[in-house]
Amino acid sequence: MKKPQIVVLGAGPGGLASAMVLAKAGLPVTVLERLHRVGGRCSRIERDGFVFDRGPTFLHYPCALRTLFRSVGRVLEEEVPMVRLDPIYRLFLSDRGHLDTSRSVPAMEAQIARFQPADRAGFRAYLQDNIRKFERVIRVLQRPFCRWTDLAGREILGLLPVLRPWASLEKDLRRFFSDPDLRIAFTFQSKYLGMSPYRCPSMFSVLAYLEYAYGVFHPIGGCNMVSEKLAQLAQEFGAQILLGQDVEQIVFRGRRPIAVRTEQAEYPCDVLVINADFARAMERLVPNVLRRRWSDANLQRKKYSCSTYMLYLGIEGTLDDLLHHNIYVPPHYHEYLKDVEDRHVLNEHPAFYVQYASKTDPTLAPPGHSTLYVLVPVSHQHPNIDWQQERLRYRELVLDHLARIGIPDLRSRIRTELIGTPADWESWQIYRGATFNLAHTLNQMLYFRPHNRFEELENVYLVGGGTHPGSGLPTIFESARISAKLILEDLGRDSQFLQPGPLDPPEIHWE
Ligand SMILES: Cc1cc2nc3c(=O)[nH]c(=O)nc-3n(C[C@H](O)[C@H](O)[C@H](O)COP(=O)(O)OP(=O)(O)OC[C@H]3O[C@@H](n4cnc5c(N)ncnc54)[C@H](O)[C@@H]3O)c2cc1C
Repeated sequence: MKKPQIVVLGAGPGGLASAMVLAKAGLPVTVLERLHRVGGRCSRIERDGFVFDRGPTFLHYPCALRTLFRSVGRVLEEEVPMVRLDPIYRLFLSDRGHLDTSRSVPAMEAQIARFQPADRAGFRAYLQDNIRKFERVIRVLQRPFCRWTDLAGREILGLLPVLRPWASLEKDLRRFFSDPDLRIAFTFQSKYLGMSPYRCPSMFSVLAYLEYAYGVFHPIGGCNMVSEKLAQLAQEFGAQILLGQDVEQIVFRGRRPIAVRTEQAEYPCDVLVINADFARAMERLVPNVLRRRWSDANLQRKKYSCSTYMLYLGIEGTLDDLLHHNIYVPPHYHEYLKDVEDRHVLNEHPAFYVQYASKTDPTLAPPGHSTLYVLVPVSHQHPNIDWQQERLRYRELVLDHLARIGIPDLRSRIRTELIGTPADWESWQIYRGATFNLAHTLNQMLYFRPHNRFEELENVYLVGGGTHPGSGLPTIFESARISAKLILEDLGRDSQFLQPGPLDPPEIHWE
């Protein structure tokens, strides 16, 4: 009997991970990618001898990726050499000094006490609370939400007292820390989802916990090496990856796709896996008449994550006082976040993140040189901000603000430079340039997020940040596992090898 042809639309980490496991399961898989490189937002930039990650730089909770590799008979650490970072990052809080976060509880307690002695004990209590919470949350995130009834199970209802859906993340953390700046230290991670902690659901307190319990890793060569490795393994297992293939049309028979078209060719498909940015792919490739829940009008009404302003700098010399990851939180953080999420205007004193990866990984820069990756969370595309006008002005502002974390004026040392704005992300086929997809509000999560087995069409599955469970790398890998498992089940094939792995014990240094 002829095997069903799988077409994966997009070679981001979600698309590549699903291609890898489906090819391993013996199915014919073709991945079509519009760019000339794999990895999407998690791809590699090479310029004048410098190497940058385009997007993700924090690889946390590697257990999700480890499970995927194990399912195809590979060992993560052998395939993707990586370094666990400790200190995890340096956090500059409201011009009150910095915190070097660490998995050593005593080291953290000593630093917390410097900010607020009364909050010293809060850290252990926070960790204990999240150990329990995470054990429950992970089971929910590991399964699909395709039916209403999936929300009504005992598992979900039992979660309510743990998840405290009535509280925002910032409010929830008041149980452990009285100092507002310390609360930011354990809540700013909601920005990984492109959201404000004052709005993000409290279940996401597990994000900071994951950093302490399971570490933050730097893959040698950058996070893009994960994409490159997934592509390599997918091909080794028989998948075909075709680059420079912009899918311009999905050909439907009724609600079922039968082929996809690029400028170069038409590719027949029995099963379509969409990894391209969800909202943009719907708007561009799926006729509005085929969509009710996710019609163009409904897509416009949804809430989207923030975007990012980027500087990728190759510089002469080194910056010895800087850590690998550095985060600056401004004094008026809440007001800054309102500018990003509500007012959609540019803030003149923004939060920012600086990655100095060549400190850990000399493969990224020529000898005697360094790489700096600067990310400023800003509003997604909005008529209030004209990036053609702001692009260079904001560069000057950001370069000046680097002094706040001890980086001297770099202008004369810059040897290569790339700027990225929300307008650039939008030109990458990302809806409103919202780099972290649909926001993770409770009404856009679980059953309310676009389903892994896409509810509006037949034989169409979603992977990546726009579907369940969400938009960080670990959840994207989970989406690939969940969707691939559903595909195999729906095709009546063995899917046992895609069972979620056992929960790894946390690796916290209590003493
Ligand atoms: C600046 C930034 C920093 C981030 N930092 C982190 C981090 O540190 N840690 C973390 O866990 N996550 C991070 N993320 C979030 C997330 O991990 C990445 O965005 C991730 O790459 C998203 O993966 P994805 O599988 O959803 O697909 P994407 O990476 O969006 O890939 C989708 C692919 O589909 C292709 N495509 C689109 N349309 C078509 C078409 N019509 N035809 C063919 N191909 C098409 C695109 O070109 C792209 O290659 C970050 C994201 C950004 C943008």
